Amino acid sequence: MRTIFITISVLVLLFLSCSQTESTANTNENMFLAASQQDTSKWNKLTAEEEYVIVNKGTEYPGTGKYVKNHDKGIYQCKRCNTPLFTSESKFESGTGWPSFDDFIDANVEIVKDADGYREEIVCGTCKGHLGHVFYNEGFTSKNTRHCVNSISLNFVAK
Ligand SMILES: [Zn+2]
Repeated sequence: MRTIFITISVLVLLFLSCSQTESTANTNENMFLAASQQDTSKWNKLTAEEEYVIVNKGTEYPGTGKYVKNHDKGIYQCKRCNTPLFTSESKFESGTGWPSFDDFIDANVEIVKDADGYREEIVCGTCKGHLGHVFYNEGFTSKNTRHCVNSISLNFVAK
């Protein structure tokens, strides 16, 4: 009787350890899939200055970005992964020294809580690169929303 009990216990333990191994393998596989879906090999190589803003969430000095006063018609894309983020139609003069947009293209921009705990950070919906911050109820346009974006996070493509 005791032998049977031990045998059963060993079998149960074996089963448990097997199923655990299997679930760990599945998790690893999912993580691998998630990473490969990003296909980072197609991302543009960033300069140290671009990396400071896009990867390390830095902020360019106000009034220095190359798109602050750009009024040409076209699309602003993510500097790193080329996802179209903003149109020239949504760009407006805020006088803040950073390119300002009252809307973004489709669901291509993601709003997340900033590490500072009170602002809302905006990132590229595809590669999660840092773009800037979003502010509300300032009365600039009818949409009452200002996406304050670092020029260096963007690439402008004229229409
Ligand atoms: Zn991107």
